[in-house]
Amino acid sequence: MTYPAATGDSRPVSGAVPAYVEERSAVIDLEAIRHNVRRLAAMASPAQLMAVVKADAYGHGAVPVARAALGAGASWLGVAHISEALALRAAGIEAPLLAWLHTPESNFAAAVAAGIDIGCSGWELQRIVAAARAQERPARVHLKVDTGLGRNGATLNAWDSLVGEAMDYQDQGLLRVVGVFSHLAVADEPDRPETDEQLEAFREVLAIAHDAGVDPEVRHLANTPATLSRPDTHFDLVRVGLGLYGLSPFEGQSSKELGLRPAMTLRTVVSHCKDVPDGQGVSYGLNYRTRGASTLGLIPLGYGDGVPRVATGGPVRVEGVNYPVVGRIAMDQMVIDFGPLHVSAGGRSLLGAEAVLFGDGADGGPTAEDWARAAGTNNYEIVTRISPRVPRRYINEEPDRSAAQDVPAGPRQ
Ligand SMILES: *Cc1c(COP(=O)(O)O)cnc(C)c1O
Repeated sequence: MTYPAATGDSRPVSGAVPAYVEERSAVIDLEAIRHNVRRLAAMASPAQLMAVVKADAYGHGAVPVARAALGAGASWLGVAHISEALALRAAGIEAPLLAWLHTPESNFAAAVAAGIDIGCSGWELQRIVAAARAQERPARVHLKVDTGLGRNGATLNAWDSLVGEAMDYQDQGLLRVVGVFSHLAVADEPDRPETDEQLEAFREVLAIAHDAGVDPEVRHLANTPATLSRPDTHFDLVRVGLGLYGLSPFEGQSSKELGLRPAMTLRTVVSHCKDVPDGQGVSYGLNYRTRGASTLGLIPLGYGDGVPRVATGGPVRVEGVNYPVVGRIAMDQMVIDFGPLHVSAGGRSLLGAEAVLFGDGADGGPTAEDWARAAGTNNYEIVTRISPRVPRRYINEEPDRSAAQDVPAGPRQ
């Protein structure tokens, strides 16, 4: 992808870009989102695709991502919290929308009123029914079973009675069992046997539900890694998060190898560039010292922006070169060592040059995976934790008709 150059005049959006966005931004390429949706939808077909946009679409912006995903062939949206779902409804998004993580404080009445589908592991059922009564409207429920992840979902022991109770309420017109679902624990490690065990358990609970008269619109189990590697887990609907954003869930397999395009570029501009002597200490703790006279570049992003403090060594690309961060990452800033540029003796200063922490990885550019490695975490966390302090800038907001044919069309397009 092309991210906006510091002084480029071929910006893909019209109108002036505010200076504070040029200074520091997470650039979100909505054409990359649409490309990824088309690709994943084609792989999932004939199953439908749910775009998982929880946590502000993994840091990419829930509303613009949801709109782009729906425009490119997603037919459902998924979030963790009812509050996240209500925000999408408030933005005017009317697609089927599931929220699956609740507490006794969750606003089930608002969910029913807004036509939000509610995941139910058991304890929520009474509250959902009370909300349906109060709203005089049947709730839309997806029964969740724990097939091995050990988070929410009914235990296999409790499944019979949950299904029985839910069907009683369905018979009374208080709810409709729209879905049955579960979540996988190790699909990102395709060699492990537990995915098969979870799949078998899921088939068993589906059979029990079927015998109890449940006729769900959608049975769903697969996340991104299972969508990519296990067609036998697709059922009627796949719930895709990471892949939408163009990132690979697999160790040792890149986005490119999967035909996905990373949608977020985290970039800023060099905010100070100065010559320093041999042995100059850098940042709190003075954990790094220059070897020989050198030139330091100051990068105005830090842990207050969601860059992990532990990620010293993470790459920053300036003018085609990836420089590792040296010294400690602070709240607002971090430092790279350019080597001697002799700015004070007439060498060219890199003050104001664009600095990219990660993007689509083209031409050897740094990636979210590089930062994940530096921080001892995964790419999910790197993009999701970029804080609201960093303005999001959207490019390619309108579909490019000529680019819409770059993957085989799924049946939903
Ligand atoms: C987050 C989440 C997903 C999406 O997982 P990815 O690996 O990002 O595709 C799917 N289902 C549930 C229940 C989730 O919590």
